[in-house]
Amino acid sequence: MKIIRSGILIDSIHEYVMENYSILIEGSRIKAVLPTEAVQVSPEDEVIDATAYTVIPGMVDCHTHVHVEGGLSDYELDKITHSQADLAFRASANARKDLEAGFTTIRCLDAPFYVDVALRNAINAGLVIGPRMRTAGQGICVTGGHMDKASVVPEVMVWGRTGVGDGPWGCRRAAREQLKRGADTLKVNAAGGSHDLSEPYRQEMSYEEMAAVCEEARWAKVRVAAHAHGGQGITDGIRAGLNSIEHAPWLSDEQTKMMAEKGVFYVPTLTTHTQGLAYGKERTGSSEGGWNWILKVCDDRWVSLERAHKAGVKVCVGTDAGFWAYHGKNAMELEELVNGGYSPMEAIIAATRNGAECLDMDKDIGTIEAGKLADLVFVKGNPLTDVSILQRKENIVRVYKGGEEI
Ligand SMILES: [Zn+2]
Repeated sequence: MKIIRSGILIDSIHEYVMENYSILIEGSRIKAVLPTEAVQVSPEDEVIDATAYTVIPGMVDCHTHVHVEGGLSDYELDKITHSQADLAFRASANARKDLEAGFTTIRCLDAPFYVDVALRNAINAGLVIGPRMRTAGQGICVTGGHMDKASVVPEVMVWGRTGVGDGPWGCRRAAREQLKRGADTLKVNAAGGSHDLSEPYRQEMSYEEMAAVCEEARWAKVRVAAHAHGGQGITDGIRAGLNSIEHAPWLSDEQTKMMAEKGVFYVPTLTTHTQGLAYGKERTGSSEGGWNWILKVCDDRWVSLERAHKAGVKVCVGTDAGFWAYHGKNAMELEELVNGGYSPMEAIIAATRNGAECLDMDKDIGTIEAGKLADLVFVKGNPLTDVSILQRKENIVRVYKGGEEI
């Protein structure tokens, strides 16, 4: 048995600090969490001294794209200028960066050519080192929607980029295709952005289309995440059975109330927008309209977040790593949540327990308690005093996945 003696323990169940507790690990799972003085150590036990650190559960990034590293890489163009093998190797390296940053679980919400599915399978088979993964395969999108923009001439057809479907049967078919290829999550593009700043969002999928995808998801026992900025598309999507709303800088009071009632998670992806803002108009290659839209997102998103907070919506950490946000810098999102009025403890809960629930993995991960997988992070310093310490590599002293140090 491994016995980890912690200094400060944040188990993500009790929303306060626990001092001088020990975590007993047998195989890949936690056997017990006990006050250190109550633990009987036998000679064959391996005692690990973490009394100088804060121990937290492995974190969860609910929104990534593994095939791109983030920054100014071109999300769309990369899919046609890089071979599938290139993207697969890159995906492996990116996911490993997330793991080393203390994110023992990630969800990939769209990657081309099923590189995310292949990566998850390789990680689960022990072929490569990486985090636990939920994978959506290709994002499902209507013709001309957010993930099916006219970025290439009609004569150029690239297979494997987006699951395009129109009408309930077309979308149902696109969902079935993802499930057939091994997706264990579905991603839909419910409502994209609009440069008309009086209404900066535009519904793309109808209620019937989203309901068809959600029904397939229920039958397959997987969750549906939706790219959605605001407006009726979100209301229709919540009614249709979506499980998480991604981005959404324009949630209304009515919508946050519905989300809280129905247990729909909110993944605000604050990091990616902050990163875009930091790069600026020229470097992001934004048009005048596109840039004004980003500025509006960055102004308005805090209201949306506050509404969600007040309504009691479960907020999760999702960075959109791969698109502007970097893999390995995932903990930036916790600082953003604190900037938006959340306490550091709430941000840690968002990054652990809420993320696990959002991914329907809370039977196994998200908290430090008996029966769960021993996914743990040793942190130098106390993230409750300064949550930004989680972003620095030197403070992520050790990461355990399933009881094994990575
Ligand atoms: Zn995304």
